[in-house]
This record gives sequence, C-alpha cells and structure tokens, in this order.
Amino acid sequence: MNAVYKLIPLKAEELMVFFAALKDEESDIFGLNVTIPYKQKVVEYMDFLQPFAQEVKAVNTVVVSPNRTLTGVNTDGPGFLAHLAELKVDTKNKKIALLGAGGAARAIIASLCLIPERPYSIRVYNHHKEKTDALIKDLKERMDVSFVSSVATREELNLASADLLINATPLGLNNEDPLPIDENLIHRNLLVYDVIYNPQETRLLRAAQKKGAKTANGLGMLFCQGTLSFHHWMGFELSDKIKIKMWKSLIDDCSSKKDF
Ligand code: NAP
Repeated sequence: MNAVYKLIPLKAEELMVFFAALKDEESDIFGLNVTIPYKQKVVEYMDFLQPFAQEVKAVNTVVVSPNRTLTGVNTDGPGFLAHLAELKVDTKNKKIALLGAGGAARAIIASLCLIPERPYSIRVYNHHKEKTDALIKDLKERMDVSFVSSVATREELNLASADLLINATPLGLNNEDPLPIDENLIHRNLLVYDVIYNPQETRLLRAAQKKGAKTANGLGMLFCQGTLSFHHWMGFELSDKIKIKMWKSLIDDCSSKKDF
C-alpha cells in the first residue's frame, strides 16, 4: 500500500482551514486520526457522524470519502471494549471505578453505557468534580447513565467492593507523578486498567501487581482503536498476520521511545 501515516501538529486556530483543505479534490489525505485536545472540537467540521461518535460527541477517526465528504468516527470506546473482550473481562453487573473525566473517560463511559453487558455501577472521580458532573449531564441527553455517578473523593469510589479500576488521567505518564489512588485501597480481586501505554508499566500498575491485582495497560486499547480506524478507512479488516506485525512494532516503538 502506497501510503504514509504521519503527525500533523496543528494549532486550534488552524483547524478550520485544515479541514476545509481536506475537502479539496487535490488533497491526498484519505483518512486521519485526531488526538488530544481536539477530539470534541473537530465534530463541527464533519459532514456526517457515525452513530457512536454522535452519542459520545467526540471523533478520533476521520474517514474521507472519494467525493471528499468527511465522516467522524470514534474508535476509542470500541477499542477499549475490544481490548476488554481480548482480556476476557465481562463488565455485566460489575462495579467500576474510573479516574478522570476527559476524552478517554468520555469514550469509555459512553461505550459502557451502550453495551448490553451493563455494569452494576460506574463511579467517576476527577479532581475537578464539576467536570465529571458536566460529562455525565451531557451523556445523559443521549443515553441511560442512571448507574453512573460523580463522586467528590477517591474514598467514595468504594474500591473495596469494586471489580475494575480504570485510570483515564495522564497521572503516570511521568515516573515521578503521584499515584492517582492510595495504593492501600487496591486489592487482589481488582483488575487495574491504566489507559496509559507509555510507560507500559506505570507506578499504578506496579503498585497493583504488588497487591496481587490483575493489571492491563492502554497498549491494547491503542492497538484495537488503531486497527478499527484502519477498517473504517479501507473498508476491510486487517489480516491476523498484519495485526501481529503491527502489535510487535507498536511494542517495540513504545519500548524504544520515551516520548511516544
Ligand atoms: P484529557 O481529555 O486531557 O483528560 C484528562 C483527564 O485527567 C481530565 O479529567 C483531567 O482533569 C484529569 N487530569 C489531568 N491532569 C491531572 C492531574 N495532574 N491529576 C489528576 N487528574 C488530572 O486527556 P484524555 O484524552 O482523556 O487522555 C487521558 C490519558 O489517556 C492520557 O494519558 C492519554 O495518553 C491516554 N489515552 C489512551 C488511549 C489509548 O488508546 N490507550 C486513548 C486515549 C487517551 P481536569 O481537566 O479537570 O484537569
């Protein structure tokens, strides 16, 4: 395939011109991913939104059609669910504690609200509670969030009875970051899922392993959302052979680069 995947850093004020140029027949871009901090902002530049992107109101994948219309897709939520499925984690009736209320948290909460394997509860803690409140209020307009609650303190996450703890904050990207949760609250019946993928083993995951808890990092979610994006751009699923190659190269890349 004669194509490249490369970084296009843009300032907020450049987005409108960039997306207008994307519709130009001369443009050779047929798809792209969008990352922090523009996943919600770019919704307004899309001609169409795929149903989940519409529900979550965030786009991480843009598909450019041959007639240059733009469809916004969100593969973060489905990527997270696909990784949970790989890990053989069933979310039905599970008690989930989630840290953070940004883009990753938005996609994860929305996807958990829309699947039949409904969790029993999702308790969300963010250091600015009003951000969690606003997120839940917004999602409530389009889906049932009756089992999602915003808590004011980490203690109210009730980790002692939780099955799954998800860190969706950037705390852990740097080794010197404080732990996002008191490690004494972690127990061996918990699966601790850190959406961070570089470093592959955050302080939180190390602390969880010490407590005998199961752990997972965000590489699987990153990989799954990437293969799903590819599916949307190309219209076909990657073969297992290519997926294995991609997975190996992703691991190598994350292991060799400090700033991925
Ligand atoms: P985001 O939209 O900026 O949200 C970050 C969240 O973390 C916000 O709720 C923010 O709260 C909170 N936060 C930021 N700094 C904090 C701190 N020092 N202490 C406590 N909370 C803090 O970012 P995002 O897109 O959700 O990404 C979050 C993390 O997920 C990043 O590390 C990113 O790399 C990772 N991620 C991974 C994948 C994957 O595929 N594995 C996909 C997406 C994101 P306030 O806004 O209230 O400050």
